[in-house]
Amino acid sequence: IIKIRRASKFFGPFQALKDVSLDVDLGERVVVCGPSGSGKSTLIRCINRLEKHEAGQITVDGTELSDSRESLTKVRTTVGMVFQQFNLFPHLTVLENLTLGPKRALKISDKEATERAMDYLERVRIPDQADKYPRQLSGGQQQRVAIARSLCMEPRILLFDEPTSALDPEMINEVLDVMVELAESGMTMICVTHEMGFARKVADKMVFMDHGEIVEASDTESFFTTPKSKRCQDFLEKIL
Ligand code: ATP
Ligand code: MG
Repeated sequence: IIKIRRASKFFGPFQALKDVSLDVDLGERVVVCGPSGSGKSTLIRCINRLEKHEAGQITVDGTELSDSRESLTKVRTTVGMVFQQFNLFPHLTVLENLTLGPKRALKISDKEATERAMDYLERVRIPDQADKYPRQLSGGQQQRVAIARSLCMEPRILLFDEPTSALDPEMINEVLDVMVELAESGMTMICVTHEMGFARKVADKMVFMDHGEIVEASDTESFFTTPKSKRCQDFLEKIL
């Protein structure tokens, strides 16, 4: 459902992505890891067009990403994203955060948007928080709201950029549990995370990046048991 062919991205003279190629199948769960500054966020931000790649091709669900209106509409409706810092609208209640996108972008009715929002709030186990404002929730609850908000747009692909790294340790699992359930429901997911327990449990494919390159992309079992490159071995030794 995602095909990346020799994609590159520059920030001025600095090359943040170097000839990156990656395929993700429908229903596949991919975990991306690697040192700080290796290009993990840049890669997934290129997949939902928050950043533009400058060379190579990225195709999402059959549409090649470009500046065309069709391609932008396609990527906005196909790909959802969950950020490290939740990015909820602080002046809107939880329910309003969840219904805004579907009402505006998908033009669904208030009633239907509310029903959908409540369904997804159940799924992330906080239906009782619907009328609160983000600041009245814990970090773990806010991140679950952010996940529910993405789900309300019914994307075919969900990207996660270090969704648990801004959380206190005791809240990490409540978010990972929701992500595991999503993975088990068959959602296509690309997760940038260093939660290797989560990765082992749900990932079909592991990607290790360093200096803007994909150094290693392999099935989860061989990634952890027999990493091929020295860089990846060293990284795993440090974080496991
Ligand atoms: P982290 O683990 O710290 O989140 P990362 O692997 O996600 O790191 P990126 O955020 O993708 O790394 O950044 C890759 C490189 O590109 C870094 O060296 C970063 O400084 C640079 N970079 C990222 N965004 C920009 C930007 N908007 N302008 C200039 N340089 C940028
Ligand atoms: Mg990052």
